[in-house]
Amino acid sequence: MIHGPCGTDIPHAPCMDGGSCTKHYPKSFCDDTIIEESDFVRYRCKDDDKSVIIRGKNIDNIWVVPYISDLCVKYNAHINVKCCAKKQGHSISPQVHV
Ligand SMILES: [Zn+2]
Repeated sequence: MIHGPCGTDIPHAPCMDGGSCTKHYPKSFCDDTIIEESDFVRYRCKDDDKSVIIRGKNIDNIWVVPYISDLCVKYNAHINVKCCAKKQGHSISPQVHV
């Protein structure tokens, strides 16, 4: 699934508020999945030099919404599961967006 496109050149996209994307897209390229100092997980997003044009905008991996295909097929819906972690509490809990 692809987010948007949105951004300053598409300010009326539904995710835009105050000139920026409320979902924080586009993400940035990242070679590995890491847990940032803020405890947010930054998922691997490789720059493979592949892109497509959607509504006149060049779209590459930084616009891809993470998904789990097995859950999408089972529930016939887009299910976005993100891993959230607390370094001090040693707990990991899933965050599910349907
Ligand atoms: Zn957006």
